[in-house]
Amino acid sequence: MANIHLKDLRHSYMAEPKGDADWALKRVDLQWRDGGAYALLGPSGCGKSTLLNIISGLIRPSEGQILFDGEDVTDVAPDQREIAQVFQFPVVYDTMTVYDNLAFPLRNRGVANAKVDARVREIAEMLELSDMLQARAAGLSADGKQKISMGRGLVREDVNVIMFDEPLTVIDPHLKWKLRSKLKELHQKVKVTMIYVTHDQTEALTFADEVVVMQEGEVVQIGTPVELFERPAHTFVGHFIGSPGMNVLPCELRDGGAFFAGSQVTLADGTGRPNGAGRLEIGVRPEFVRFSQTDGVPATVVRVADAGRYRVVETRAADMRVYALAPEGADIPEGETRLTFDPTRTRLYADGWLVSDNQEV
Ligand code: ADP
Ligand code: MG
Repeated sequence: MANIHLKDLRHSYMAEPKGDADWALKRVDLQWRDGGAYALLGPSGCGKSTLLNIISGLIRPSEGQILFDGEDVTDVAPDQREIAQVFQFPVVYDTMTVYDNLAFPLRNRGVANAKVDARVREIAEMLELSDMLQARAAGLSADGKQKISMGRGLVREDVNVIMFDEPLTVIDPHLKWKLRSKLKELHQKVKVTMIYVTHDQTEALTFADEVVVMQEGEVVQIGTPVELFERPAHTFVGHFIGSPGMNVLPCELRDGGAFFAGSQVTLADGTGRPNGAGRLEIGVRPEFVRFSQTDGVPATVVRVADAGRYRVVETRAADMRVYALAPEGADIPEGETRLTFDPTRTRLYADGWLVSDNQEV
């Protein structure tokens, strides 16, 4: 097991990258603590697989270094890095039995038979493959094959890190939830560093203690699920996480206050005018938008959708769509209303980035 430090990484798939857009990873510098459960979250194409393949050594970064416990492994071959990687689509030996597939990574490293057997049965039990250990992998469904793939990733106990690249893509929805909780359980048991890549916020937030959010080849925020929810460092994070995501609304700063659609909005912090900022916006999550008859921003309710414990209320205010979440049983106005934003939860963003009085954040 190891601490992993990705030091000043950049990567381009082009021989002669020119503009920003030519870099699949623009600049990444981050550390993964030994034994942590991490998620790498971001939309398709933001560079997640590129980053994983750099850690495992399948790709050599154009610039920067990969350190395991301080030791530079940038030029160490993939099979020498002691990493398990599970890909989006199953990698199994079709002609082998399920048992032999799971045993392969251990036998390959000369692990004693008794130990192999115990470990294979333990992993099979966890993934509910015990009944089919003697079946050929070829006969299994896509789900079944991916479970073998995951099993092969989990079977070794001596790896530096186990990485999963969108492993549940081909898995049936009802199984997804189950496997996700199993992985979490397993992590708590074995404490091997795990990095779980996904574009699905629910998967990331349920699995990880710490989530790294990426956008267009850059890390925009690293935080616990609570931090990402409560204090998005960038409007992208606010919008990408949450359902619906944070409302991001244009604002003006004048007379010492922030104004949206002509109404003054009280901010949690960051009221000082940001230096030379271009685009100014306020961010407030739908959870912290309330209806009022007397105060706030004039708005019109256009749609109400039931989401179980909450109703999602879509409103329009000054041509902007603003969502509010109303708890079960709360009164929802029809037509014209006013919106107030919880002042402790309303933040200012300049060119997408959080403006804070507390410069440490
Ligand atoms: P993600 O896994 O987040 O979907 P990727 O790391 O696969 O993102 O891709 C990041 C960027 O690099 C994308 O623009 C993608 O088109 C590009 N890319 C990925 N793999 C290659 C490749 N082998 N050759 C050229 N470009 C690639
Ligand atoms: Mg990918």
